[in-house]
Formats: sequence, structure tokens, C-alpha cells
Amino acid sequence: MNFHIMTLFPDMVMNTLDTSILARAMNNGLIACEAVNIRDYTLRKNNRVDDYTYGGGAGMLMQAQPVYDCWKSIQDRLPKKSRVVFLTPQGRVFNQKIAEDLSKEDDLILLCGHYEGIDERVLDEIVTDNISIGDYVLTGGELPAIILVDAISRFVPGVLGNESSASTDSFQDGLLEYPQYSRPEVWHDKRVPEILMSGDHAKVDAWRLEQSIERTRERRPDLYKSFLAK
Ligand code: SAM
Repeated sequence: MNFHIMTLFPDMVMNTLDTSILARAMNNGLIACEAVNIRDYTLRKNNRVDDYTYGGGAGMLMQAQPVYDCWKSIQDRLPKKSRVVFLTPQGRVFNQKIAEDLSKEDDLILLCGHYEGIDERVLDEIVTDNISIGDYVLTGGELPAIILVDAISRFVPGVLGNESSASTDSFQDGLLEYPQYSRPEVWHDKRVPEILMSGDHAKVDAWRLEQSIERTRERRPDLYKSFLAK
């Protein structure tokens, strides 16, 4: 899967993505990420990409022209029309289901805003999906884009060393994951639950499901309600 990230801060994006599991996935050719600098496409002599907003108001707005030309330079290289995700606090709130859905694309273009945002006219022309990472406002779309690339990549076959771990993660079945333990058997006088060492897989599975349900009820009553309604 190929991610094309449109941004004013390509180093910020690439330095973060080129780490740990995602770096390995890139090295193994399972995903490819490019950060394309929107500033490279401005036609203004001073290299500016922002201007005042019509109607007044604080802050500057990214202009339509460089954003459009940057998008076109990416889209023209792709075999078919790609989905374009604009990271915005005004979008659908991102979740595991959206990540799984987006992971089915061969190419995905992610558009990061900055300053007060982007001229609406170019958004109308190129954006297919508006996605928010939560009900708060950040200074730019770079961190949200990194979050999307990370969560989506986990669904690309081979990216996680152990394929089964994605299927037992929190949210996959509408529940939070059960508690987990590693060595030693006793730490700070706390013992690993006996059942996990019983070797009885059916009992372990039943215990884990029970723990998942209880944890979801306690920590995320909203998810628990949907789980019960299923
Ligand atoms: N004036 C905009 C508004 O009220 O909707 C907010 C602009 S914000 C300061 C600058 C950029 O950060 C946005 O264009 C967007 O790309 C990104 N951003 C900020 N908060 C975000 C969030 N919760 N989810 C996704 N992107 C966000």
C-alpha cells in the first residue's frame, strides 16, 4: 500500500514514520510512504502558500493553487483516481473500522492543513474523505496523518510480525482487549492469574473474553452498550 502525504513539513512526517515496525514494513516493501511538500508547488515568488481570509478573522489560510497542483502531481502518477483524506477536526472521528476500510486501497493521499486551514474551493474539488482524530484542535494535520498511516498499516498483510495480533487487539470485536502478562510469574507480590498457566486453551479463551467484557463495561460504557445491543 502506498501513502502520499501532502504537507508543509515533510521531515516531520518522514522522520516519525521511518521508525520501528513501519520502517521495517517500508524496508520490506509492504508499504511505501512519501511526503510531498506543498510549498514546492507555489507560483508565488516569495514561496508563500498562505494568505489572509476573505471576510476577516485571525490567522492565515493555505491557498488553493499550491494544494491543487501538489495533489495533481501525485494523482497524475497513479494508475487510478485515489481517495484523498483531508485531516480536519470537522471530519468523521477516526476509528479501527475506518482504518481497516482504508487499508484496502492501493494508494491513499493524505492532505495536512496548517494555519487556519485550507481554502474551501480546493477541498471541494479534491477531497473524498474528511477525517478527524478527535474533538480537539491541533496546529497541523501532520500528527493526525501519521496516526492514520500507523493504524492503517497494521491491517496491511505482513506488517505485523504476528498476523493474529491485529485480530485480538482492542476494538476489533467491539471490545477492549483483556489484560496481558509476561515473565516473571510474580512481580511486586502480584501473581500472574493461574488460569493463564493452566495450558487449557478453551479456559484461557473464556477467561479472556470475560475480562474483555468486564474491562469494556468499566472503561468504555459506550462500547459496552453497543456490544450488548449486537
Ligand atoms: N480552523 C480550523 C477549524 O476550526 O476547523 C482548524 C485549523 S487547525 C489550527 C490546522 C490544521 O490542523 C487543520 O487544517 C487540520 O489539517 C489539522 N487538524 C487540527 N486538528 C485536527 C484534528 N482533530 N483532526 C485532524 N486534523 C486536525
